[in-house]
Amino acid sequence: MSRPVLATLDLQALGNNLQVVRRAAPMSKVWSVVKANAYGHGLDRIWSALNKTDGFAMLNLEEAILLRQRGWKGPILMLEGFFHADELPLFDQYRLTTSVHSNWQINALKAAHLQAPLDVYLKINSGMNRLGFLPERVHSVWQQLRSFTSVDNITLMSHFAEAERPDGIAEPMARIEQAAEGMELPRSLANSAATLWHPEAHFDWVRPGIVLYGASPSGKWQDVANSGIRPVMTLSSEIIAVQTLKYGEAVGYGCHFRAQAEQRIGVVACGYADGYPRLAPSGTPVLVDGVRTTIVGAISMDMITVDLTPCPHAGIGAPVELWGKEIKIDEVASAAGTVGYELLCALAPRVPVVTM
Ligand SMILES: *Cc1c(COP(=O)(O)O)cnc(C)c1O
Repeated sequence: MSRPVLATLDLQALGNNLQVVRRAAPMSKVWSVVKANAYGHGLDRIWSALNKTDGFAMLNLEEAILLRQRGWKGPILMLEGFFHADELPLFDQYRLTTSVHSNWQINALKAAHLQAPLDVYLKINSGMNRLGFLPERVHSVWQQLRSFTSVDNITLMSHFAEAERPDGIAEPMARIEQAAEGMELPRSLANSAATLWHPEAHFDWVRPGIVLYGASPSGKWQDVANSGIRPVMTLSSEIIAVQTLKYGEAVGYGCHFRAQAEQRIGVVACGYADGYPRLAPSGTPVLVDGVRTTIVGAISMDMITVDLTPCPHAGIGAPVELWGKEIKIDEVASAAGTVGYELLCALAPRVPVVTM
């Protein structure tokens, strides 16, 4: 391999994290959420490490078809359903469970001529106001859907806007109860945060995503530090050059960082074109030669500069962990003003990926 930047995926950690979910929600089935190319990990690389799941949930028809072609025969849930009515023959052919969140989808299902009826997730808008029917409409939508020859089992589904907060699901749960009145239907409500922290939201199927990949749904690693989850992706590289700055000298674009004394700086082969966040400031943690140190100066397209003061023996070729087992992706994300989700999904195509 030439340029040393590399993403390593720990597939055992993925299986471990699924077990953590099962322990957290022992009475529920699990939709493993693998949208966005499995949160940037690569669906084709990782799905078989999750083959003890009860089902896979995603958005993209091409990814669902890929799973079928690879031999997955279990349930597949399309979280936003079909985007156009002309996808329904493929939903039929590949036996995909569809979410229904809008009137036009009801009409499309009514008009559809399928080989066999589809399972449907009826989406309730419980206050997030992105997708779904208002609680007062859910009963009539259910009555319509159940009368269609194109519809088989119906499950109630909703999504939480702030399940990472201790009091974050009370209001939406009340709306969901209101919507569900008079219907004995299975329910699927819980994302990772609700799976870990709100057992009252577990019901029949939980839908964890981020926690499977070993990052925190709250953006704070300490919130999951004792849960047993383990990071799946390690982004690593090497020091490719060393500079010694004199007092007052700057490093990198914009000269944002100036040495306060003579200081050794390592240049790492990784930049924002690899998916490292450009907005990570000086002080963002990084591991060099097994020692915690920090980023100094601006992140460039292909390079990052780091303080070598805590690791005086680290020179060219020294290993660098940008995030992974030691430097949690949540730490890097929060330093850069974002969440682990975004960094995982933004891993750049030019970074080679290996599994272990
Ligand atoms: C992305 C998504 C999830 C998973 O969310 P996490 O916070 O990653 O656990 C669950 N349900 C729906 C509808 C989603 O879009």
